[in-house]
Amino acid sequence: MHKQSIYGLTYDQLKDWLVESGQKRFRADQVWDWLYRKRVKSFSNMKNVNKDTIDLLEENYVIQTLSETVKQESKDGTIKFLFELQDGNHIETVLMRFDYGLSVCVTTQVGCNIGCSFCASGILRKNRDLTSGEIVEQIMNVQHHLDDQEKDERVSHIVVMGIGEPFDNYDNTLDFLRIVNDQKGLSIGARHITVSTSGLADKIYEFADENLQVNLALSIHAPNNELRTKIMKINRAYPLEKLMPAIDYYLEKTNRRITFEYILLDDVNDHVEEAKQLAELLKDKRHLSYVNLIPYNPVADHPYERSRKQNILNFYETLLENNINCGVRVEQGSDIDAACGQLRSKQIEKAKKKKVNAS
Ligand code: SAH
Ligand code: SF4
Repeated sequence: MHKQSIYGLTYDQLKDWLVESGQKRFRADQVWDWLYRKRVKSFSNMKNVNKDTIDLLEENYVIQTLSETVKQESKDGTIKFLFELQDGNHIETVLMRFDYGLSVCVTTQVGCNIGCSFCASGILRKNRDLTSGEIVEQIMNVQHHLDDQEKDERVSHIVVMGIGEPFDNYDNTLDFLRIVNDQKGLSIGARHITVSTSGLADKIYEFADENLQVNLALSIHAPNNELRTKIMKINRAYPLEKLMPAIDYYLEKTNRRITFEYILLDDVNDHVEEAKQLAELLKDKRHLSYVNLIPYNPVADHPYERSRKQNILNFYETLLENNINCGVRVEQGSDIDAACGQLRSKQIEKAKKKKVNAS
C-alpha cells in the first residue's frame, strides 16, 4: 500500500489525527502553515515542529505523490502539466494567466464515465477517482513551480474543469474545496473557484445545501432533450425536466449566478433555432444566468468540428437579443493541446504505439 498524501487532509482531519496520536493541537497549525504558507516539500523542513510529530508524519504520510512527466508552456503563458500518479496513471493540470489572476484547471478522475461524445476524456473511460490529496497536490505542484520562479506569484483562481466529472467524485472534490479555501492555508476565495458538472441533478441539490460560496457551471450544450441525449448520454438519466428543477433549487438556495457552458459544434447545436430554444429555457432565470459559448476544440476520431465564425456570432447575438447574458470563451494555450484531456490522450496513444512497436 502506498502512503497517502498529507494534502488530502482537511485542517480538522489533520488536527483530530494529531490529537488522537498524542500530539498537541497547536501542532496542526504549525504543520498546516508549513504546508500551505511556507510550502516546504519535506516534513523534515518543518523547523519548529517537534521530532515526535515529524516522525509520526513521516510514518503515515508523504507530501508528494505526483511526479511531473511533461510540462508544456504556450506562447500566451499557459502551462500544461502532465503528472504520473503513484499507480502509473496520468492526469493533467493547466495553469492559465488572465488579467484578473492565475487560474488552475484541475482534474478529478482518471478518465470519465459520463462519456460525452465530443470529449477526449470520455473515450478513455474512468479508471478511478482521484483522492482529495491528489487533487490538492495539482494546485500545490503548480504553486511550487511558481514559487521556484521567485516572482511572488500565487494561484488565485481554480476551475474544476479538467478530466473527470467532479460530482461523480463528490466527497473528495468537496474536501479539496475545503482545503484550498481554508483561510489559514492557501486561502483561495470560494468566489474564485468554479466547479463544472455535466448535470448530475441529485448532486446539484446536495451542492446547493453545502452553503459554500463556490461557483457552479453546468455543461448544458443543448437546449432540448433529443439533441442533448445525442451528444451527452447522461441526459438519459438526468433529462432537462429533472435537471432544470435542480438548477432552480440551487439558484433559490444560493442566489448565486450560474454559468451555462455551451460548446458550439458545427451544424449540430449551433443554429439560430437552438439559440432561441436556449433563451426560452433560461428566460425565467436570466437574472442569475450567464451563458459561456465555447468554440469546440476538435478531438481526433470524434465526429465534430468547430462552428464557423459567423454561426458563433449569430448564436451569440440571438442570445443577446433575448436578453441572455453571454460571452464567447477566449482560447488559452491552443498551441500546446491545452483543451480538456488532449495532452493525456496523446501520451496514452504514444504509450500504446511504443507497446505495439516493442511487441
Ligand atoms: N465533467 C465536467 C467537467 C470537466 S469538462 C463537465 O463536463 O462539465 C469541462 C468543460 O470542458 C465542459 O463544459 C466540457 O463540455 C468542455 N469540453 C470537453 N471537451 C471539450 C473540447 N474538446 N473542446 C471544448 N470544450 C470541451
Ligand atoms: Fe466527462 Fe465532462 Fe468530458 Fe463529459 S465533458 S466526458 S462529463 S469530462
